[in-house]
Amino acid sequence: MTTDWLTSRYTRGNLMATIDLAELEREEIEDAFDLLGVPRFHARQVFRWIYARGVTDFNLMTDLSQALRRTLSATFTVGSLAVETHQTSSDGTTKYLIKLADGREIESVFIPDTPAQTFCISTQVGCAMNCAFCLTGKMGLVRNLTAGEIAGQVRVLVKHTPLAGRAFNIVLMGMGEPLHNYAATMKALRILADADGLALPAKRVTLSTVGVLPGLEKLAQEPLMPNLAISLHATTTEQRDRLVPVNRKYTLEELIDACKRFPVAKRRRITFEYVLLDRVNDTPEDARRLVRLLNGIKAKVNLLPLNEAPGIEFTRPSDERVNAFAKILADRGLVVSVRRSRGRDIRAACGQLIVEGARSSRGQDLARAIQPR
Ligand code: SAH
Repeated sequence: MTTDWLTSRYTRGNLMATIDLAELEREEIEDAFDLLGVPRFHARQVFRWIYARGVTDFNLMTDLSQALRRTLSATFTVGSLAVETHQTSSDGTTKYLIKLADGREIESVFIPDTPAQTFCISTQVGCAMNCAFCLTGKMGLVRNLTAGEIAGQVRVLVKHTPLAGRAFNIVLMGMGEPLHNYAATMKALRILADADGLALPAKRVTLSTVGVLPGLEKLAQEPLMPNLAISLHATTTEQRDRLVPVNRKYTLEELIDACKRFPVAKRRRITFEYVLLDRVNDTPEDARRLVRLLNGIKAKVNLLPLNEAPGIEFTRPSDERVNAFAKILADRGLVVSVRRSRGRDIRAACGQLIVEGARSSRGQDLARAIQPR
């Protein structure tokens, strides 16, 4: 691992004081300690405190000497995220409003019993993709999250939820497009996977993307490979151009080709998410086209009946239409599930995460208008 970036900061004097250990993988913390003349093995201890025990104050790391605690406090920080508020839905889903160091806000969601416990994590403040039915998209992209901020959400949620040692999954389905913030997202997954920390295996992670193709090609080469979910939502170019504007750049055809090439592990499938919009993309012809499109891919389909919101021009289809659509897929041999929406009463469901900023955007005004039932 290169330590050039560390050395350059170090030789420029006190700048080391600005290094936030929450932004570093364990090996990078080891390198930083090396430069300070601190034995490398202490990095593992510190990493365990931060991730396995949720302690970020060096003074509370009781297996380190007082002298080392002082050195570390003088040299490093451990960025932590502040939970501003949380709201629990009637179905147990809990939405956390999290404040970042620069005052920006994001939302993360805990979904109990799915059947595992699931954390829905954000990768950006806002989102640039602007899908026609998604409230987060109305915010536009405010900024990327750092690796520490992405992994930090998991740290915070673990601390706040009654997991009691139970395994949990994470889905990168909160605010933002993970492949539009590739490096930070993958770094966060490496931090979370570390056996000395939360030890979250990649198979417990699902990365959901609209199909940013350069990112998808890179992901196909990753040693740490999460499950892949593709937000498809349409079966023709014309329809997808309208619903998922990034399709004008990375076409439906190229996306399907990339999925065909994607290395899917044994007994795994690519999930295709398909938001159902009443009389827009939910007809029997759409269902049949979807079957043809996914032919030759180890696929499963997750249908998401639209979560409606003011300012979103579409409506949710009736249960009958949803079931009829699902039946066409199932009858032709596709594995299909319908996503039961969780946390809709607290605006924590898919496509409903949005945060008010200092200046309000159109989307933020819309969000304010949504009253919890
Ligand atoms: N940007 C990534 C991650 C967001 S995941 C992606 O698009 O895949 C959130 C999922 O919820 C996506 O499949 C998204 O299309 C879907 N979604 C967005 N708005 C929705 C809404 N109003 N109702 C139901 N699902 C929605």
